[in-house]
Amino acid sequence: TRRFGSTPDLAARIAIRLGAAKPPPVVQALDGVSLDIAEGEVVGLVGESGCGKSTLGRIAAGILPASEGTIRWKGRDRATLQGRARRDAELAAQMIFQNPMAALNPRMNVEALVAEAPQIHGMISGGKGAYVDDYLRKAGFDPEMKRRYPHQFSGGQRARANIARALAVQPEFLVCDESVAALDVSIQAQILNLFMDLREQLGLTYLFVSHDLGVVEHISDRVAIMYLGRIVEEAPVAEVFARPNHPYTQQLLAEVPRIRPGKRRFSAVKGELPSPLNPPKGCHFHPRCAFATERCRIEVPKMRQIAPGHRSACHLNDVA
Ligand code: SF4
Ligand code: MG
Repeated sequence: TRRFGSTPDLAARIAIRLGAAKPPPVVQALDGVSLDIAEGEVVGLVGESGCGKSTLGRIAAGILPASEGTIRWKGRDRATLQGRARRDAELAAQMIFQNPMAALNPRMNVEALVAEAPQIHGMISGGKGAYVDDYLRKAGFDPEMKRRYPHQFSGGQRARANIARALAVQPEFLVCDESVAALDVSIQAQILNLFMDLREQLGLTYLFVSHDLGVVEHISDRVAIMYLGRIVEEAPVAEVFARPNHPYTQQLLAEVPRIRPGKRRFSAVKGELPSPLNPPKGCHFHPRCAFATERCRIEVPKMRQIAPGHRSACHLNDVA
């Protein structure tokens, strides 16, 4: 298995710089999104539904084309890669969806599902049995059960089988889109811990797309906050939870007071989410922002560095 060194290597960054993705209207368009992900890093991508985080995740995973902008993989524009380099880059980025097994051929057992892609790509020399068992074990799935079908398993086991399927093509970068959202809370914790173990063992890099701030706080090194197709704030996880800068982030991270100890809960952001297809001019957040001025209705705020590694796009950060 390939491993990365522990030092983040600039040449190996995955950089996503996009103008506007203009996919079909069911998919949120992106507007000037720029996101760097270093090797071995876990970046959490959060925001309300319809903000474009799934679109960005799919583009990062290479399963949705960007109509503008560039996706750099290890320093090279992914669109210019050819042949073997292209195939390797495609396999290196894998996506883990919320309930992917539901979309798969129900007549294929777990072994066949895990073996499918590596067989197509000639990654298995010799019998598939040992190869599949290895990846099932990595995902915490008992290889003895591999002849059974996805519907015969619980949600947690299905999630593990699906992770084994993604691992079997030896990826370096996993995009997880609400990957634990459908699972019970106790199972969620197990799968999140599995992701963290795999990061250690295999040197994986993650983009973790989630609406669940508790999950994102638990798993991420760095967090990017999206609002209506734009990234509005980006910072190390502890920094953004302790010192959220953007008024949207501040509302998003405002906790509901707890009566009894237990799981933290976050309140919903006040006001209606405008149509992602026709976002407000200027700062997209201005109709919901308590601090909005005339300028906010006209001028798009630029991303500015406000502390080391902490960037935010709000006019309030301009020095007078
Ligand atoms: Fe609010 Fe203006 Fe900042 Fe946007 S730029 S978040 S509207 S203060
Ligand atoms: Mg989504």
